[in-house]
Amino acid sequence: MHDIVLIPGDGIGPEITKSVTTIFDEAGADINWIEHIAGLTAQEELGNPLPDETIEAIEKHRIALKGPLTTPVGAGFRSVNVAMRKKFALYSNIRPAKTLPHIHSRFEDVDLVMFRENTEGLYIGKEQWVEEDSHAESIAVVTRDASEKVVRAAFEYAKNKGRDKVTLVHKANILKYTCGLFMEVGEEIAKDYPDIEYEDLIVDNMAMQMVMRPEQFDVIVTTNLFGDILSDLASGLVGGLGLTGAANIGDDAAMFEAVHGSAPDIAGQNKANPIAFLLSGLMLLDHIDENKLADRIRQAVYYTLEDKSVCTPDIGGSGTTETFTEAVCNNLQ
Ligand code: NAD
Repeated sequence: MHDIVLIPGDGIGPEITKSVTTIFDEAGADINWIEHIAGLTAQEELGNPLPDETIEAIEKHRIALKGPLTTPVGAGFRSVNVAMRKKFALYSNIRPAKTLPHIHSRFEDVDLVMFRENTEGLYIGKEQWVEEDSHAESIAVVTRDASEKVVRAAFEYAKNKGRDKVTLVHKANILKYTCGLFMEVGEEIAKDYPDIEYEDLIVDNMAMQMVMRPEQFDVIVTTNLFGDILSDLASGLVGGLGLTGAANIGDDAAMFEAVHGSAPDIAGQNKANPIAFLLSGLMLLDHIDENKLADRIRQAVYYTLEDKSVCTPDIGGSGTTETFTEAVCNNLQ
């Protein structure tokens, strides 16, 4: 029996969480879910968006499946996601984007995996007012240590999964120290993997290349903010945010979540696509060596995608979160 911390999250979080736990139960997953809250839900219930009990549970079990958490825009509490990634040193955010069967999207052969540095960059939220309300500054932090960890993780993944190429994305022409250091680390580590092709691209060019010829990319590694933006772009290439899972991996803890957020615009309407969160759950199963079970559920999802009457509207379906969940359960072999 695997003890896994479960954080349903905000907005559509509880709906997609119910879908995943229902499908896992039906498939016979040997998991003991240890449920805790975080984000806006925890702020409203306990006055703290990241309660001690939630942190202690992750500290104890070292593995979590986490729904999306709302972060107020502008004022209000800072991102709990960012705090958790930092707290548990989850330095690699791994975001695969792969063309799925029966999904209409603009491209047919996308199969890329984005490695986003997850603990530093411009994303750390280290900001200050130089002059209140008229002059603000943000600090980007890049260290050799964190860069080496994520770049090596990307190369190791490429080696272990038989992938051919790693593309490092930066803006070292302008950000000569921060991105310059990240790129330098990439060049050094690439020498340890002579069988894997290595290239680097400037982020603006990368954005254009990804929408022109995404099939040229395999494994991508980049800094935190660029990875955040480019991975949403990658989701768009394969049919939208409802279809891409993600893993946050450190040396001794792992947290799985969807790429998308809490989607407040469709929360509580039984419209949320649970596939992204389900794929994150399957990454979790692979991580705990339950690969056979993950494959069985994956095949049931692929099979279910053919019947648009049970799929959610974001992927052209006329069904709901619940009809999709029920159909996947019925299609488990
Ligand atoms: P979002 O990803 O929540 O939604 C963007 C668009 O995609 C919306 O139109 C939404 O309806 C749609 N969408 C997202 N997931 C979907 C799904 N599973 N099925 C169908 N449609 C889906 O991004 P946002 O609106 O910019 O952010 C909302 C909140 O989520 C913010 O508070 C933000 O900070 C937070 N957020 C959290 C995470 C996380 O927890 N890892 C990630 C991104 C955003």
